[in-house]
Amino acid sequence: MLNRFEAIFNILYVGLGCLLATTVALSTDTGSDGNAVNTGASTLNNVISEDPEFTDVIENITVPAGRNVKLACSVKNLGSYKVAWMHFEQSAILTVHNHVITRNPRISVTHDKHDKHRTWFLHINNVQEEDRGRYMCQINTVTAKTQYGFVKVVVPPNIDDALTSSDIIVREGDNVTLRCKAKGSPEPAIKWKRDDGNKIVINKSLEVHDLEADSLELERISRLHMGAYLCIASNGVPPSVSKRIKVSVDFSPMVWIPHQLVGIPMGFNITLECFIEANPTSLNYWTRENDQMIIESYKYDVLAAMKWIACILFIPICAAFTAQKTESDPNTRLLDNILSYVVGDASACGNYFEYACGKYATRHIDDSFTEIIQMLDHKVNKNLVLLMEELNQRSQSAVLNESSVEAKALQFYITCRDASLNTRSAEHYLRLAPPDKGLTWPQLTPGETAWPKEQFKWIKTLGYLHRYGLTNVIVSVMVTQNFENSSEFLLNLSMPSFEEESQHLNSFMETLATLHVMKVPSKSVVPLARKIRRLEHAIRILAEADDDDDESQFMSVQRLEYRTGLNWQMFIELLVDHRISPNFRVQVRNLHYFTALKVLMETSDAQMVASYIMTRFVLYLLNDSMGDRSPIECIKDMRRGMDQASNLIYKERFLEPATLQQFTKEVIELFDQLRRQFQLHIDKNSLGLTSRQNRMVGTKVQDIVLNIGNIPRGRDHRSFVSQYYKDLEFPSADLDYSREHLKLLEFRTQKQMAKLYQPAPSKDEFFFISDPDTAMSSTPYYMIRQNIIIVPHGLFQEPFFVSDSHDVFKYSLLGFTIAHELIHSVDTTGLLFDSLGNADKTGTEISTSPRFEAGLVCMNRNSTQYLDERVADISGLDLAYSAYLRIAKDRNYTDFANTSLEQIFFLNLAQFFCGDSHPTNFVDHDEDQIRLQQMLHGFAPFHKAFGCQTRSFYPEKCQLW
Ligand SMILES: [Zn+2]
Repeated sequence: MLNRFEAIFNILYVGLGCLLATTVALSTDTGSDGNAVNTGASTLNNVISEDPEFTDVIENITVPAGRNVKLACSVKNLGSYKVAWMHFEQSAILTVHNHVITRNPRISVTHDKHDKHRTWFLHINNVQEEDRGRYMCQINTVTAKTQYGFVKVVVPPNIDDALTSSDIIVREGDNVTLRCKAKGSPEPAIKWKRDDGNKIVINKSLEVHDLEADSLELERISRLHMGAYLCIASNGVPPSVSKRIKVSVDFSPMVWIPHQLVGIPMGFNITLECFIEANPTSLNYWTRENDQMIIESYKYDVLAAMKWIACILFIPICAAFTAQKTESDPNTRLLDNILSYVVGDASACGNYFEYACGKYATRHIDDSFTEIIQMLDHKVNKNLVLLMEELNQRSQSAVLNESSVEAKALQFYITCRDASLNTRSAEHYLRLAPPDKGLTWPQLTPGETAWPKEQFKWIKTLGYLHRYGLTNVIVSVMVTQNFENSSEFLLNLSMPSFEEESQHLNSFMETLATLHVMKVPSKSVVPLARKIRRLEHAIRILAEADDDDDESQFMSVQRLEYRTGLNWQMFIELLVDHRISPNFRVQVRNLHYFTALKVLMETSDAQMVASYIMTRFVLYLLNDSMGDRSPIECIKDMRRGMDQASNLIYKERFLEPATLQQFTKEVIELFDQLRRQFQLHIDKNSLGLTSRQNRMVGTKVQDIVLNIGNIPRGRDHRSFVSQYYKDLEFPSADLDYSREHLKLLEFRTQKQMAKLYQPAPSKDEFFFISDPDTAMSSTPYYMIRQNIIIVPHGLFQEPFFVSDSHDVFKYSLLGFTIAHELIHSVDTTGLLFDSLGNADKTGTEISTSPRFEAGLVCMNRNSTQYLDERVADISGLDLAYSAYLRIAKDRNYTDFANTSLEQIFFLNLAQFFCGDSHPTNFVDHDEDQIRLQQMLHGFAPFHKAFGCQTRSFYPEKCQLW
């Protein structure tokens, strides 16, 4: 192959007109290797003079960017030949003879005529990084002669501010990652140090003087981490550079008092001390019992220091509060926030989700939550972390009352955070929860002894495990209200469901993994996994065979035992934890399933059945725990396991009574307006209902109760919660996560079972014993049998809700969510029950009436598995919007300059759906993008607000409520 430089070289010479025509002819027609070209001119040259040759090598040069450099190429006997310089990697011809070919103004060429070895110098001024590489010096002999020199350009480090952390303020307990990125050549190494020379605390067990890494991760940051950190970049090219990053850790004021009671003779002076630690600095003041602030005077002398404040005064009640963030107008704040998610270039009419929420992902790139609603929960969790850490500090200087709600919550939190990993293992759980008294699980049976399978009774084991809330494995058990009489609670027995992911074994690989963590010996894992999956399959077949049997029947336990041949009395006694009479009444579905089940169980190997139950039990436990020891995950565990306690302490610490009162007032007013609007819709009777049907719906909606905070109304919250946890104790000194987790599960099941023996609570007494999901969430939900909407306290946060904000904000977001829940009372499921929670055929008449069915068909035109949710979305939006319009007419409204009120309504509505969660993460609902799109489909006020073409493009809005 012809070296392409030679070819370029020759063509260039022609262009410059300084090369003999013969040379061109000779060199350009070569078809293959340069060596083959050895004719004509070369022979001629040989005759005239000796061939030119290099007399010295080109020296390699290392040069810092910005300097000048020169490369030397020495040649003798050049004769009429020429010397050229090229940049090899860039395929660029730089100079030929005395001519500079490149347009790069920093390149020049000189040569020394007087030197007997004539030296050709290539000069590069102000060297840049791109100048690095191989330089070729070439003589245009027939077979071109070349030699190379290398220029290495080094660049001192330079910190890239855009990719490097700046000063930050974080809350105590957060995880923080400081990043540092520097450019330079060679690539700089990054080192972290503290500016004050102290060691860096990476985590509990690791402290280092310095750390070489691109990022510095500080786990569960505490006030001790506060200070300036240096990120130092060096690469051997001086100077090294550094950036100082200040980390401030905010923590709420912590107060402690060395002496709670001080005695003093009359007439003496006394100093009372109260220590406060807070960042940012707290405002501190003393009050007396009458809540009057004590002002400095001849009688009272108040001393304060910047961060550590010793208040020296009279009564040991020291109050502190941190300065509130600067208050701007709430409407401006809310609007600014909404607009910060908007992608102005996107089309509101074409893709509204992208338009209203498009910037969500970039704004929350580093956040652990994936939607705005989750952000509220995240804030609740972070606040609770703070509160727990505060309580923990306080418990170290003073004794917390052990029976207090705080002490119990703290004990569980600390156990989650600090208990050893061994106490979280599946094996440990299984030792604590054996299949029967005196029986261990098969793989935990010691040594060579065979597992005593004759001792194993599957129904008894299910009874034991149900005490921890395990249900829907082989048998499904629930405490429910009687369909016909909601004031009666019953034990409902039915076949298990396999629909949801948590209701069956998952893939074969996952089954293997579960058996593995349960310490099943490796050689048995594969065959056992096959067997238990086969068993589950067989149970599933039985269940499918009985799928049509939906009728519930009431019968005594004795009768049920007779019909199925199974020992239900023992099973139920284990659940309720005491003896029951054979006449104990239960509600049973799928009787045929149970009869068939007996045969299946009798013919299955006991050890395999035990293993199946055990595997499902472990999956259930893993599912019920965040499985993580970080503070924020432990808070989630705490909220899930101790929902009422978490609820109380959150409310008392973070919601001022006056604020809460204001919130409550506004939410109730909002709800009343929505309900009144619904009443107007019913009066219009667009569904053409009979007056009896209309009355049923009207009464139902009229009777809905709003329960704020999931608290029994009319009871003192604290005394209710203290009473609720009266029997829960964590007495042991050692920390054991599984033990306490099981205890909480057992506690919850007992509360459920206790309902069987109490009269049904009135609406005022009602509170929901949360399921694991609702306990951790701040979204409102509708209780179908009680006809109650529960609004968690976590919702009362900006930007979701700000009191005294413009109605357009309230109705579009909180208003919509409450309207959505209100509609659930009259969706296809809600209509099954009347206002008292009893099954009512009138509702079924309504949901099967022609116009109602037509509305459903319309709403399902883009089909969904969650039709009731779509009903609640579409009718809920209609309700919230029409209520807002009605209110707006009566009130005097301010204007927001660039955004119309209608646009604000729909943009704020979108806040409920904005997020970047993966479509597979949505449970029991369509994904948010689809929900938003479907609700606005054909909704004329929306199209009008954004000037979209209506009618011709969009179908009519679906008519239902
Ligand atoms: Zn819903």
